[in-house]
Amino acid sequence: MTDTVRLELLESVLEAVSVGTIVLDAAGRVVLWNKWMSRHSGCATHEALGSDLFELLPELRGTRVHAAVTQALQNNFSSLLSQTLNRSPFPLFSNPAAQARGERMQQAVAVTPLTVAGARHCLIQLSDVSLAAGREKLLREQTELLRMQTFSDGLTGIANRRAFDVAIDREVRRAKRGGGKVSLLMIDIDYFKPYNDHYGHQQGDQCLIQVSSALQALLQRSVDMLARYGGEEFAVILPDNDLQQAMQMARTLHARVLALALPHEYAGGPAKQVTVSIGVATLATDRHAEVPALIGAADHALYDAKRQGRNRIVAAPPELL
Ligand code: GH3
Ligand code: MG
Ligand code: MG
Repeated sequence: MTDTVRLELLESVLEAVSVGTIVLDAAGRVVLWNKWMSRHSGCATHEALGSDLFELLPELRGTRVHAAVTQALQNNFSSLLSQTLNRSPFPLFSNPAAQARGERMQQAVAVTPLTVAGARHCLIQLSDVSLAAGREKLLREQTELLRMQTFSDGLTGIANRRAFDVAIDREVRRAKRGGGKVSLLMIDIDYFKPYNDHYGHQQGDQCLIQVSSALQALLQRSVDMLARYGGEEFAVILPDNDLQQAMQMARTLHARVLALALPHEYAGGPAKQVTVSIGVATLATDRHAEVPALIGAADHALYDAKRQGRNRIVAAPPELL
């Protein structure tokens, strides 16, 4: 291959590649501006050649691109401009439609010093990463959606059993590490089977939604978690709460359900509205108890509340833990 042919080959490659290629001389003047650059910037090669890059594109002055070019020309340093600060430093557009919308392409920019005929030059390579960035964003959104779906209950939107299992484990471990306490409330709707039988499953669902959102609205601290533990049974994790604080919260939640005044003519007790029973247990970390003991104690207290007539709150005796 002769030198002329080789040169022709290199030029065709440079014009055909899908990478923007700019070469500046030591004074910062454009000595190479390939076809990709013309197509995406709207500035033809003959217009660009010989101009100072920062006069041609004044908005680049004082930016990280400017700093990178200076570094390359003066100190022989290469730079890869990260995507985090400025995703679109050059006024480049993926296509005419994007340009009409004023939507710049997202760019990956690499600045490299070059020595040509004994003189320092600077190569700027640009590529369009809009598509990859868009896919990445979509993927992130889908992952988040999936995570939300995996950890939330489809009917009520509150945390589901899986989220509860993860959270109770984490909070008990945290309490043990920090020598703190963690409380657990188990809340079960009273006479819910007759409610379903008489009012229908759909109204039963509505009842679950109303009760859970009323309970959720009362949990102010971000660390507190209301979860749907089972069919019509809810659990509340109260990190750093002792038994007294947990009992106070139980009374607030219990009263809120009463205040909903959801009619339940077929309830077996004297109250002809939807009520809940609540079991309360607190794990003090000076004990060796684990998650199953805490859940067991709260469950036991709930069972006692049911046995004593429902629509009430019972605390688990500490010896259960
Ligand atoms: P207790 O006062 O002792 O709690 O009695 P109960 O009737 O509430 O309890 P039981 O466990 O016998 O019945 C619970 C009912 O909850 C049975 C089931 O039909 C209903 N249930 C569970 N999940 C759902 C749901 O997602 N939607 C509806 N509508 N009902 C549900
Ligand atoms: Mg029930
Ligand atoms: Mg139940």
